[in-house]
Amino acid sequence: MPSTVQLKPGVVFGETYKQLVKACKDGGYALPAVNIVGTNSLNAVLESAAKNKSDVIIQLSNGGAEFYAGMGFGDSFKAKVLGAVAAAQHVHLLAEHYGVCVVLHTDHANKKLVPWVEALIEEGRKYKEKHGVPLFTSHMIDLSEEELDYNISESARILKLLDALDMSIEIELGCTGGEEDGVGSDDIDDARLYTQPEDVLLAYETLTPLGHFSVAASFGNVHGVYKPGNVDLRPDILKNSQALVQEKNGLEANPIDLVFHGGSGSEKAKITEAISYGVFKMNIDTDTQFAFAEAIGDYVEAHPMAFNYQIDPENGEPYKKLYDPRKWLREAEKSMIARLDEAFVDLGSKGKSLATSKDHAVAA
Ligand SMILES: [Zn+2]
Repeated sequence: MPSTVQLKPGVVFGETYKQLVKACKDGGYALPAVNIVGTNSLNAVLESAAKNKSDVIIQLSNGGAEFYAGMGFGDSFKAKVLGAVAAAQHVHLLAEHYGVCVVLHTDHANKKLVPWVEALIEEGRKYKEKHGVPLFTSHMIDLSEEELDYNISESARILKLLDALDMSIEIELGCTGGEEDGVGSDDIDDARLYTQPEDVLLAYETLTPLGHFSVAASFGNVHGVYKPGNVDLRPDILKNSQALVQEKNGLEANPIDLVFHGGSGSEKAKITEAISYGVFKMNIDTDTQFAFAEAIGDYVEAHPMAFNYQIDPENGEPYKKLYDPRKWLREAEKSMIARLDEAFVDLGSKGKSLATSKDHAVAA
């Protein structure tokens, strides 16, 4: 059923985030969570969301945040913090003007990166003091490589800090295969690639009283894109987890807010099935990275002289109009937007933005 909820365009957090997640699950669609590394990829996400009249999730990995601050910054940890803050401020300033609702997220933080998240929570506290709203909507803590008890108790500790600021947490149960930004590993045994429903139940019972959380569950999903046959997606794992939590707690269908990692390159039918089991967020990075790069490759191939000479050595023609970074970076943005056009359709979120604006006004 289409949602009748309307939200102010801009960054959502706390109650408005929960309303958005509920609208996704009730409406049977999910939002792409796109990793960005700078203003080009960030603005491409905002533009594509506005164009598709969909709400969207913008996220940064620790490496993406560092890149946003600048690789020559000097202090890598500080760059990871300040880069994430800079990107979030950029979104806070622009999102409402693009007329859609935006969820601001950070990506995988394993045990080593917990201090990064803690520093961002402190930045969120300072921002909230000044502006009345937190910086990020939600942070991800990925302790899936640790013992389950530690994973859940540490996630609970951090969720308390987040909840005090009207923020949410995303945790991971079971291991997403592949590797992303140094987090994860290629050589985990197969059983761990599939989340155990009992683990989801334990997380639900521990975290529910503390605040809002979502769960990245593993159902054979893998970071990156691999040749067909390497990935055996089993969305029924999600179904079984939901069913167990529902039954044990006497709840309605799909009580857990689920996240699909490693969405790039996945079969469309498996995506649709995963959404039907309560997935509201699908991470996408590899495919949008390739779209960005592919367009630059094509552009350089089409205009090789402009990347070797400022002025044509034969006829003296100036190439400034072709090598101007705005030209080829814009091509990259357009290509990333075209890939996201596809994602909004695959996830069913096209045309479903909850944001109130002239363009998106929904008849009551
Ligand atoms: Zn992931």
